[in-house]
Amino acid sequence: MTAFSIESVIDEFETMTKNAGHHQRETLRQILEQNGKTEYLQNLGLGGRTDPESYKACVPLVTHSDLEPYIQRIADGDSSPILTGKPIPAISLSSGTTQGKRKYLPFTEELVQSTMQIYRTSFAFRNREYPIGDGKALQFIYGSKQFKTKGDLTATTATTNVYMSEQFKCTMKDIQSQCASPDEVIFGSDYQQSLYCHLLCGLIYSDEVQFIFSTFAHSLVHSFRTFEKVWEEICTDIRVGVLSSRITIPSIREAVSKILVPNPSLADSIYNKCVGLSNWYGVIPALWPNAKYVYGIMTGSMEPYLKKLRHYAGNLPLISADYGSSEGWIGANVNPSLPPELATFVVLPNIGYFEFIPLEKPEMQELETSSASIHYIEAEPLGLTDVEVGKEYEVVFSNFAGLYRYRLGDVVKVTGFHNCAPELRFICRRSLMLSINIDKNTEKDLQLSVEEAAKLLAEEKIEVVDFTSHVDTSTDPGHYVIFWELSSDSSDEILQSCCNCLDLSFVDAGYVSSRKVSAIGPLELRIVQKGTFNMILDHYVGLGGVLSQFKAPRCVSQSNNKVLQILCMNVTSCYFSTAYEK
Ligand code: AMP
Repeated sequence: MTAFSIESVIDEFETMTKNAGHHQRETLRQILEQNGKTEYLQNLGLGGRTDPESYKACVPLVTHSDLEPYIQRIADGDSSPILTGKPIPAISLSSGTTQGKRKYLPFTEELVQSTMQIYRTSFAFRNREYPIGDGKALQFIYGSKQFKTKGDLTATTATTNVYMSEQFKCTMKDIQSQCASPDEVIFGSDYQQSLYCHLLCGLIYSDEVQFIFSTFAHSLVHSFRTFEKVWEEICTDIRVGVLSSRITIPSIREAVSKILVPNPSLADSIYNKCVGLSNWYGVIPALWPNAKYVYGIMTGSMEPYLKKLRHYAGNLPLISADYGSSEGWIGANVNPSLPPELATFVVLPNIGYFEFIPLEKPEMQELETSSASIHYIEAEPLGLTDVEVGKEYEVVFSNFAGLYRYRLGDVVKVTGFHNCAPELRFICRRSLMLSINIDKNTEKDLQLSVEEAAKLLAEEKIEVVDFTSHVDTSTDPGHYVIFWELSSDSSDEILQSCCNCLDLSFVDAGYVSSRKVSAIGPLELRIVQKGTFNMILDHYVGLGGVLSQFKAPRCVSQSNNKVLQILCMNVTSCYFSTAYEK
């Protein structure tokens, strides 16, 4: 690791987090000095003031929909200072897999800088614990499609915007092992061909690979599920030194063919290791003996993939990557040895101005009178250093990219402090997913129910490959529908028990009381054919998303017509809960 001192990065981080309060005030001052003359801020009457009190008094809390008209004007080519003093050079598109719609967001150089700071910080702590050499990394990464907005700005995913920046290319040389695959693979136009070549290139350099990475755990699991299907073909390619005919894109063929030479002994070794594995347990350390860890976002909606990822990773540590969004970064994982379920993120106090809305779950009587959209009782937002350990909050931030008091919609729990900066655990997206009556269930509640019911399949060695849900109000009363894709067939008897278990595992008081009085009908479990979730993935990729950013939608609304159609057309059997029958 040249030109980069781990100690100095850690020292800088320690000093900064000790002075978190000071950095927050200073960061707000800089944001407002840089952008105070924008149309948005001028209309709010700040009049040049940059202190937190005036800021909070003048500037309202907003969501993306409040800012959409401003961002749209920027995308359409209005280069006057609307949200930022300097012109916005590009637009980022959120993954859209959470809410079904891709959001437009401003992208600026400052976001590249904060990305670098976050990457450098977590890398320094990671490398202190699990040092890696100068070798390569097997990275399942994909550049996404780009298009020009009406105003001629490039619009693509935030990660692609970052990958394309010069600053990123320079800094990453210092902090990240080189990707085993050439750029033509990363930026190829067919993700299935790119994925095959990532695996192939990773194996060509198997002794040099230091770690395995993808943005999200889903993509890591998807990659190794694919490997189970194509490994023999990859062995043949390595044995004869000729790329499979499945790779048809000329630029990928040319780039990969340059590094593919006949290597029968490597092919034999891979073949023998693969046949020697029991159900692919520990395939990663077996094939990449010098890999030190597996890295990617494994928290939140990625937790359901951890079991399978652990299976593939065997004894290798899984390290959860940092916490951010297309809007901007929030925190770095500086405790890499914690298992992903316990991962926390320390907020970096100089990348934005952070506030936290205290959230409390309402009591039962309040629940009955509250509208379906109120899941939490909110209090006044608190500053970064004022939050309390053990409490839950919604994240609000203001940054250099034109977002002011922006509600991110994520719920986090403060688990402690690193010096004076809070450590956050990601809990869930705030948006309610399942609600018919006075019931209120989030993606986390759904995940817990699915985990509980999936235990009944574990004895049969059957896994839930993926899952989602839907509120069906076409019946009276309405009911929850859970879709499951399974690794192999199970009996009706077991699936009926799983269905009952799912129903009973939603323990939210509103749900239980509604089920008891039949204000909500019996939960329905629908089993879909193998490959259904890959069709959903294909659908999102077709809309311009990328494999490595894919988050399966955990609740499909009626308006998400296409995805609901894919699910419904692939149902092979369904079960209705009898759990509440008297
Ligand atoms: P996107 O805007 O499509 O990049 O998605 C951003 C959202 O992904 C965040 O608001 C979070 O809900 C989720 N997310 C990002 N990083 C993490 C993380 N480390 N753990 C859990 N969820 C995350």
